[in-house]
Amino acid sequence: MAELFYDDDADLSIIAGRKVAVIGYGSQGHAHALNLRDSGVDVRVGLREGSASRVKAENEGLRVVTVAEAVKEADVVVILAPDQVQRHVYTQEIAPNLNEGAALVFGHGFNIRFGYIKPEPGHDIVMIAPKGPGHLVRREFLDGRGVPVIVAVEQDASGSAWELALSYAKAIGGLRAAGIKTTFTEETETDLFGEQAVLCGGASQLVMYGFEVLTEAGYQPEVAYFEVLHELKLIVDLMWEGGIAKQRWSVSDTAEYGDYVSGPRVITPEVKENMKAVLADIQNGAFAERFINDQDNGAPEFKELRAKGESHPIEATGRELRKLFAWVKPTDTDYVEGSA
Ligand code: NAD
Ligand code: MG
Ligand code: MG
Ligand code: MG
Ligand code: MG
Repeated sequence: MAELFYDDDADLSIIAGRKVAVIGYGSQGHAHALNLRDSGVDVRVGLREGSASRVKAENEGLRVVTVAEAVKEADVVVILAPDQVQRHVYTQEIAPNLNEGAALVFGHGFNIRFGYIKPEPGHDIVMIAPKGPGHLVRREFLDGRGVPVIVAVEQDASGSAWELALSYAKAIGGLRAAGIKTTFTEETETDLFGEQAVLCGGASQLVMYGFEVLTEAGYQPEVAYFEVLHELKLIVDLMWEGGIAKQRWSVSDTAEYGDYVSGPRVITPEVKENMKAVLADIQNGAFAERFINDQDNGAPEFKELRAKGESHPIEATGRELRKLFAWVKPTDTDYVEGSA
C-alpha cells in the first residue's frame, strides 16, 4: 500500500521560513506561486525579460524579477518552466546563481530522470507533482480543497529534504487531498505513460476514431460530437466518483451490456501490447530523446502534429456547437480556441 500524507503530517513553518523562487508562471507556476503566497510563504517569481506572463503575475501582486535575481535571493528554487527548456534555464541562469545548500523543487521528474539536469551534490532535490492541471490546483485551493500531489526526494543533502517537501506540498494545498510518496523514476515514467496511453493520447484518438466512424457512415457531425466527446466528461465524472463500477451502475443496462461485449472488441489485447511498447520507449529514454531533439530543432514535428490535430473535423463541429451551450463557461480565460 502506498504511503499517504495529510495536512497533519506536515509542518507549514518549514517552507514559511524560506525564501522561495518560482521559475515560470504558466499552468503550474501560477498555481504554486499564488498558493504559496496565500499560505504565508515569501515568494518571488523569476521570468525572462519580456515574458508575457510578467503582467499576469504582477496583477496578482507578486514580485517579478529575472531568473538570476530570483535564484540569488532564494533558498528554495522551484523549476516550473516547460520541461524542454528547463535544462537551458538551469545551466545558464540557475546553476551559476544558486546559493550554497539551496533546495531544488520540480513539478515533474523528466529532467532529473533522463539526466538532462545534474545538480551538484550539496542541494536537496525534491518533487511535488500535483496530479491535475495547474488551473485546477489554484481553483481547488481557493475553494478550500486541494489536488492530490505526489512527493519524492531524489537527493537529501540537508538530511531534512522530506520534511521540506511535505511542508511545500501542504502550502500548495496538496495535502488537503493527499500526498503519495514516490520516486522521480516512478513519477516520470507513470506520468508519461498515463498521458500518452490513456489520458491524452489514448482518449483523443478514441474520440477522433469514434467521430470519424459515425460521420463517415452518414450521421450528422453535431450528433456524433455529443455521443463521442461531450458525454465523455459525464462518464468520466462517474468513474472519478465511484470507479468504473459506478459508471456502469448509472448507465442503462443496454449501455452496460454494450460496454462488456463491445469494449474488448474495440480495445483489443493488441492495444495492450501497443501500450507496452509505448512504456518501453518511455523507460529506455527514446521518447524523451525524440521530444527534446525535436524541440531543440525548433519543434517542427510538434508544430506539424499540433496543426494536424487542430484541423480534424471534430474541432470545427465542436467550436460551433459550444457557442450554443450557455452552460459551458470556460473558466481558464487564458485559453484561446483555435490558437494553436
Ligand atoms: P507552461 O508551459 O504552462 O508554463 C511555463 C512557464 O515558464 C511560462 O510562464 C513561461 O513563460 C515560462 N518560461 C518559458 N521559458 C522560460 C525561460 N527560459 N525562463 C524562465 N521562464 C520561462 O508549463 P507547465 O505546463 O506549467 O509545466 C511546468 C512543469 O510542471 C513541467 O515540469 C510540467 O511537466 C509540470 N507539470 C505540469 C502540469 C500541468 O498542469 N500543466 C501538471 C503536472 C506537472
Ligand atoms: Mg500527469
Ligand atoms: Mg505530464
Ligand atoms: Mg448516448
Ligand atoms: Mg445501470
